[in-house]
Amino acid sequence: MKKTATLLWLLFCCLAFVIGYKLQYHKTPETTTSTTSAPPTKTFNWKMVTTWPPNLPIFQIGVENLAKEIEMMSGGQLKIQVYAGGELVPPLQTFDAVSQGTVEMGHGAAYYWAGKVSAAQFMTSVPFGMTAKGMNAWLYYGGGLELWRALYKPFHLIPFPAGNSGVQMGGWFNKKIESVDDLKGLKMRIPGLGGKVLAKAGGTPILLAGGELYTALERGNIDATEWAGPFHDKRLGLYRAAQYYYYPGWHEPGSVLELIVNSEAWAELPEYLQKIVEVATQAMNQKMYAEFEALNIKALQELKEKHHVEVLAFPPQVLQELKRLTVETLDEKAAEDASFKQVYEAYKKFQADNAAWNKISDDAYSQALKP
Ligand code: CA
Repeated sequence: MKKTATLLWLLFCCLAFVIGYKLQYHKTPETTTSTTSAPPTKTFNWKMVTTWPPNLPIFQIGVENLAKEIEMMSGGQLKIQVYAGGELVPPLQTFDAVSQGTVEMGHGAAYYWAGKVSAAQFMTSVPFGMTAKGMNAWLYYGGGLELWRALYKPFHLIPFPAGNSGVQMGGWFNKKIESVDDLKGLKMRIPGLGGKVLAKAGGTPILLAGGELYTALERGNIDATEWAGPFHDKRLGLYRAAQYYYYPGWHEPGSVLELIVNSEAWAELPEYLQKIVEVATQAMNQKMYAEFEALNIKALQELKEKHHVEVLAFPPQVLQELKRLTVETLDEKAAEDASFKQVYEAYKKFQADNAAWNKISDDAYSQALKP
């Protein structure tokens, strides 16, 4: 009995040894396979151009941080050299430079390219459009980003949402806006669709770069100007050139910034590097928006308390009229441009659904907070 047990034990040990050896034998090729599929050591040296001036807080600084984060997360495998507007190409040639593959990446805002892709304006902001919250929902989960990618495909570009200004301010005025009539003859720096709406209201939209705003306003060459929000407006010193600071920024309720990548360069990246760029950009999209909010809160306090700026609301009837003229403007554009119409329809539908939800969520809650 004892002998049989010892024999069985020996037999078991032999079997265990053979199985163990076999398993190990089979394990070796697997390890070899995973070694060969390990990340290649190829280093990518990319260039990124932006539409922003050097050192512009939030915008240019944010993009430079993104490049550093991508380099760190990729273990140095994807290095991106960032150039501010004008350092490598003029700011408004960002789109072309990335499209043609002169550089691999760019950062700016889609509405700068309205002359090439009119519907791209919906991807930044349109007057009386959606705020950052709605834009993020539409772009990531409402089909907006797919439409955006389709618009840019013929230009060999892949766009990503990459930052949001939040609701902008209505602008700096040297005369009070008390009725729709006060918009007539008003010379205001206001670009894009907002400018077209102002023109319909009888005003004169003027195009000026950020650096020219202070002087133009101070010398009376313009009566009013919009720029961004309290933080960036204060930085330009606009409170020293105008008396009244109006809200809300009906013309830019939540401007989305964009990262564009040349599609051929993108295809050369291994999947995990593409993922790093994608996820890092999603993080930047959120962080930039948060930074705008935090800095605007502080800057508004300073403008009011330290610089005694008079902050005024546009009268409701002025906003109603501007809204009516916005619908007219968008409808006219849609009638002459099929791709604008397609994006407009999708945007309008999402905005209406979003508004119905907002009414009983954010809007109702804001009302409830009122004293
Ligand atoms: Ca603006």
